[in-house]
Amino acid sequence: MATTRRFFVENIGRETLLTGEAYRHAKNVLRLRAGDEIVLFDGSGREYTAVINAEQKGALACTVTGSAPSEKECKTPVALFCGALKGDKTEWVVQKATELGVSEIGVFESRYCSAFMNENKLARLQKVAREAAQQCLRATVPAVRFYRSLVEVFAAAAGFENKLFACEFAQKSDADLRALQGPCALVVGSEGGFSPEEFAAAQAAGFAGVTLGKRILRAETAAIALVSVAVFCLGEWQ
Ligand code: SAH
Repeated sequence: MATTRRFFVENIGRETLLTGEAYRHAKNVLRLRAGDEIVLFDGSGREYTAVINAEQKGALACTVTGSAPSEKECKTPVALFCGALKGDKTEWVVQKATELGVSEIGVFESRYCSAFMNENKLARLQKVAREAAQQCLRATVPAVRFYRSLVEVFAAAAGFENKLFACEFAQKSDADLRALQGPCALVVGSEGGFSPEEFAAAQAAGFAGVTLGKRILRAETAAIALVSVAVFCLGEWQ
């Protein structure tokens, strides 16, 4: 495997210990040992080259040899706000959106939402984001936050230059996605979709309604389709 192995570590100093799951994976699965080079990242957007010095009890001791800003991140921030989905669908969306490069993920409850969030589910989603970031070589783990209402989502999205609201009953798009430039906030509903009042409130908050075509997509399809189109139109795939 040509790629240097990468590990997420909470606090990176000149001497850093690889512990817990990362340690077990490095030792038992990857069979790394003293002298091997690895890359560490802490979610800050920088990545650190390091060398394993020695194995201690339950840890690999590493020395950081250099650091640089990661080149894996999107140049333009894209935030995805998605209604809470049933089963493991929200996890699926968090994983795929992280791979596609989103800067943050908001999971919200809205009128027709029938899935509920709690602390454990949020912690699980944050873990999914961390693992997805590690797997796809990102140096930044997108923050995953929970919003109790669409009003909270609108407040969180206030500073974004582009605000797009995927509305299943919008007849046309009020924004030209092909001309997209600058930070984007994308809102996609849950399985239950949106009410006309919610769409009107989004428009009043500065969101442009966008259609994703003539068919009704499942929420998770809609979320990943809109993120993909946005990152493409922002020039991230060139
Ligand atoms: N239950 C709704 C569908 C919800 S689809 C109904 O029966 O009409 C879930 C979410 O995916 C929607 O809220 C919307 O954000 C997005 N979505 C799905 N299809 C879409 C489309 N054709 N255009 C825009 N958004 C769409």
